[in-house]
Amino acid sequence: MPNQQKRRVAIVGAGIIGASIAYHLVQRDIDVCVVERGPGPASGTTGNAFGWVNTLFVDPSDQEVLALRRAATAEYERLAEQLPSAFQYMRRGSLLWKSEPDETESLVEVLRKEGLDVELIARAEFVRREPLIRNVPVCALASPKDMALQPPALASALMAAAVERGAKFFANSRVTSLHTSNGAVTGLIIGGETVEFDLVVLAAGAWTEELLRPLGLSLGLLVSPALLLRYSSDRQLLSHIIKSPELEIRQLPDNMMLVAKSLKDPLPDTSAIDGMGLEMLMRIRELVSGSERIEFEDGVIGHRPVFSDNLPRTGYADGCKGLYFAVGHPGVILAPLLGRLAASEIVDGIPPSGFEHADGSHLRRSYAAT
Ligand SMILES: Cc1cc2nc3c(=O)[nH]c(=O)nc-3n(C[C@H](O)[C@H](O)[C@H](O)COP(=O)(O)OP(=O)(O)OC[C@H]3O[C@@H](n4cnc5c(N)ncnc54)[C@H](O)[C@@H]3O)c2cc1C
Repeated sequence: MPNQQKRRVAIVGAGIIGASIAYHLVQRDIDVCVVERGPGPASGTTGNAFGWVNTLFVDPSDQEVLALRRAATAEYERLAEQLPSAFQYMRRGSLLWKSEPDETESLVEVLRKEGLDVELIARAEFVRREPLIRNVPVCALASPKDMALQPPALASALMAAAVERGAKFFANSRVTSLHTSNGAVTGLIIGGETVEFDLVVLAAGAWTEELLRPLGLSLGLLVSPALLLRYSSDRQLLSHIIKSPELEIRQLPDNMMLVAKSLKDPLPDTSAIDGMGLEMLMRIRELVSGSERIEFEDGVIGHRPVFSDNLPRTGYADGCKGLYFAVGHPGVILAPLLGRLAASEIVDGIPPSGFEHADGSHLRRSYAAT
C-alpha cells in the first residue's frame, strides 16, 4: 500500500504504554507518529518505576483484575522472545514475607488456590537463596517467575524497534491540546500548529486528563504518587526482588539498589525526600548484611495513573470520534498486553476479549462527561 494511503495514527506519550502501542501498531502497516513532551521515551512515570512484573498484589476475589494481570504477565514471555535485547538485564524471582508467618502462609495458600506459581519456603531454603538477609523470616513466599526489569530501557527498546519499522518519534514536543472538528478529534496542536491525524491515541499516563478536560471529558483518573529511591553499592548483595514488611527493594546488575515506597499527600519536598532516603538506608542496613558501604543517591516522585477499580481504561472514546485512550496502573505490567490489544482493536476492529474469567469488557469502560 502506498505510504499516503496508510491510516495516520498519533500516539501522545512515549511512556511504556505509548511505546508498546507504537511497537505493536507499526507492525500492522499503520503510519505511526509518537509525540512526547520530554527529551526521550520514559520521560514520565515509566522513568521512575520499580520494574516488578508480578501477579501477587491482587485481591483474589477480584477475578477481573486477576485475569487481566495473569494475561499481562504471560504476555511478557512473548515480548521477551521478540525483543531479547530489551531483557538482557532482566532478573527472575521475588521473595516476600509478612510480619507474622501465618499471614505469609495464608497468602501462599490463597494464591496457590488461584493457580499462581508461588511456593512457601522455609528458613534454610531462604538462606540458600538470599544468604545476606539478616533476621531471616520463618517462612517466605517465593514467586520464581516474577520479572525485575528496567522500564525505561524497555520503553526505549520498544520505541527504537517501532522507529526501525517506520514509526516517527518527536521528542520535546508538548501537545497543548487536541484539535477537534464537528465534535471529532482530528489532530494535535503542537507549538501552535495543527497536525492532522486519522486517530489520536492518548497514552499520556497521569497527564491524560489534562488533554481530555478541554473537551469536557474525564476518565475519572486518580493520580497516586510513589517514591523511587536509589542507592549505590560497590557489590552485588541481593539476587531477588525482596518485599519485607518494611522494605520493597531490588538490586540492578550495575549494583544500584532501588527502593519503592507509596506516598500520600502532602507530597514531601526535596529535604523530606532526602530524610526518607536516609531512613530507608538504615532499614536496608538492618536488613542486608554487607550493606554498610551503600550510599543514598537520590529519590524521585512518580505519578501512577490509577483507577478506583484497579482496572485500566482503553478503547475508543464514546461519543467522540477519532480518539482512543490507553491508561492505567500498573502500567509496566500491563504495557505489552495493552499494546497488542490496542493495535488489534485499532487495525482489525476487534475489541479485547478472551481472558479467562473475564470477557474483556473491563478494558473498554467508557468515560463520563464532566
Ligand atoms: C516508584 C514507582 C514504582 C513503580 N513500580 C511499578 C512496578 O513495579 N510495576 C508496574 O507495573 N508499575 C509500577 N509503577 C507504575 C508505572 O510506572 C506506571 O503505571 C507506568 O509507568 C505508566 O506508564 P504510562 O506509559 O501510562 O505513563 P508515563 O510513563 O507517565 O508516560 C506518559 C508520557 O506522556 C507524556 N506526556 C504527557 N502529557 C503530554 C503532552 N501534553 N504532550 C506530549 N507528551 C505528554 C509524558 O511526558 C510521559 O512520557 C511504579 C511507579 C512508581 C512511581
